[in-house]
Amino acid sequence: MKAVAPSYYPLFKCIAGACRHTCCAMWEVDIDPATYDKYLNMRGPFAERIRSSVAVEDDGSETGEAHFVLRPDGRCPMLRDDGLCDLILECGESSLCRVCDEHPRFFNFRSDRVECGLGLSCEAALDLILNWDKGFELTDVTSMSPASHDIDLDMVPEEEPDELETEVYQARDNAIKIALSRGMRLSERVMKVAGDLWTPAERLEVLKSLESLSSEWCGIYNRIEASPDNTKSFEVIDGDRYALQFLNLFIYFLYRYPWEGGRLAGELLLMTADCVAANPGTDIRDIVRELSSNVEYSDCNIDDIMSRI
Ligand code: SF4
Repeated sequence: MKAVAPSYYPLFKCIAGACRHTCCAMWEVDIDPATYDKYLNMRGPFAERIRSSVAVEDDGSETGEAHFVLRPDGRCPMLRDDGLCDLILECGESSLCRVCDEHPRFFNFRSDRVECGLGLSCEAALDLILNWDKGFELTDVTSMSPASHDIDLDMVPEEEPDELETEVYQARDNAIKIALSRGMRLSERVMKVAGDLWTPAERLEVLKSLESLSSEWCGIYNRIEASPDNTKSFEVIDGDRYALQFLNLFIYFLYRYPWEGGRLAGELLLMTADCVAANPGTDIRDIVRELSSNVEYSDCNIDDIMSRI
C-alpha cells in the first residue's frame, strides 16, 4: 500500500462551469518547469497565446519561475466566461500545469505511504467532505486512477517510520478515534483532543491579525461576538443542525494536519463555529470555504496560528 485516502476521495469531480467560486481566479498559478518547457515547445497560434499569458520571475534558478498573469478582474487568462478552461478544451487535461492538475488534492508524504485528501477551498470537494455520511475510513488508492493522480509513488521510500513519526501518527489516529466515539458531545470530544482552547475573543484577535484575501471573509469574522467563553460556539457544534458537518470537519482537520496536532484542529473547528454562530443567515459551506481559502490555504497564516498555540 503506497497511497491512501478517505473513501470519498475517488468520488471527487470538478463541476467546472457550474462552480460558483472557481479556483481559476484570485490565485496566482505557478507553472512547474516541466510544463513550462512543454508550453515553450508547443507550436501554433494557441501556443503563442499561452506564452503571452505567462510571466517569468527571476528566482535565481536557470529557468526562473513562470506563472499565468491574472486578468485585471483576477481571473486566469485561460478561464472562459462560461467557467471552462481554454487550455483543457484546446490541448486536453494533460496540458495543465501541476498546480491546476492536482487541485484540490493534497498529499502528505510519510515514510511508508502518501496520504491523499481533498481540500475545503473547492466547493465540489467541500460538499463531498461536509456531507459524507458513510463514516471515516482510509482506502488504498495506489492503483486507482486518477485517484492517486500523477503523484510520483517512487517518492515514497517505503521505509519504517522513525519513532517521532510513529508517535505523531498514533496520536493523530487516536484523536480521530476519539472524534468518532459516541457517548460524549462533540464539544467534549474536541476538548479531549485539543486541550485548552482559546475563547471567541482570543480567536477573533488572531483572525484579525491574519492575512485576509477576501472582503467576504472579513465580513464573516467581523460579526463574531468577542465573548469570553465558548458557550455559543459549543451550542452550534453540539446542535442537531450541523452535527454531521462539524464532525466531518473536525476529522478533516485532524487527518490533514497530523504534525500540527489536535489543538490546531480544535481551534480551526471553533473558528468555524464562532463564524456560524455570528452569521446565522449564511450557508455553512460559504463560511467553511472562506475560512479554508483565507486561513487554511495560507502557509503564513497557519504558521502564525501555530506560533501562538
Ligand atoms: S473550485 Fe473545485 S469545482 Fe470549482 S473549478 Fe476549481 S476544482 Fe472545479
